[in-house]
Amino acid sequence: MNSPYYMKFRVTQTYKKGVHDGLDLVGIDSKDIHSTIRGTVIFTGWENINNPKQGFGKFIKIKKDNSDDVYYFGHLSEIYVKEGDRVYITQVIGKEGTTGNSTGSHCHYCIRKDGIRGNDLNVSAISGIPNRLGVYDDGYRESNNGYLENSSYKGNSIVDALKQIGVDSSFEHRKKIAERNNIYNYTGTATQNTKLLNLLKQGKLKK
Ligand SMILES: [Zn+2]
Repeated sequence: MNSPYYMKFRVTQTYKKGVHDGLDLVGIDSKDIHSTIRGTVIFTGWENINNPKQGFGKFIKIKKDNSDDVYYFGHLSEIYVKEGDRVYITQVIGKEGTTGNSTGSHCHYCIRKDGIRGNDLNVSAISGIPNRLGVYDDGYRESNNGYLENSSYKGNSIVDALKQIGVDSSFEHRKKIAERNNIYNYTGTATQNTKLLNLLKQGKLKK
């Protein structure tokens, strides 16, 4: 599974061709929206700056690398990327919100071929997010039994080692990973970073 959430989230509206062209998702542990693909940001901002209740409200469009598929993240409260930015999988790109045509905080997540309305693809089938109401864990970080591994990395930087495998290497994210690996009060000291790096090299770093 590959969802815009790092941990638990809820599906509140399913994908149905001609009725609802994406999945409505609500973050449970966090409202951070992560990129689900490697690609280029081709739009950020309001659907209609003069009407904050229109359509997707504040949203992001990302064109997937080597593909015509354009990914949409709608109804956001905050956007952290800009047009032209290159993004990687798991990168935090925005915050869930209720801008646009929305009655409660959620993210409308959809994929349109060439970015054309009506050309929507089955986002559930592509992402592996069940097309069923309910609570789910983001499983794409569990593809390797719940652990991150970069055994080919030879350097000394946890940031570079994470980047190399396409994982968010920001301080905030390293802090989350540290806690999951029983390294508390993470401040990014050399000792803490070495511990994280050694676990990562051994494929024992919990996601
Ligand atoms: Zn929706």
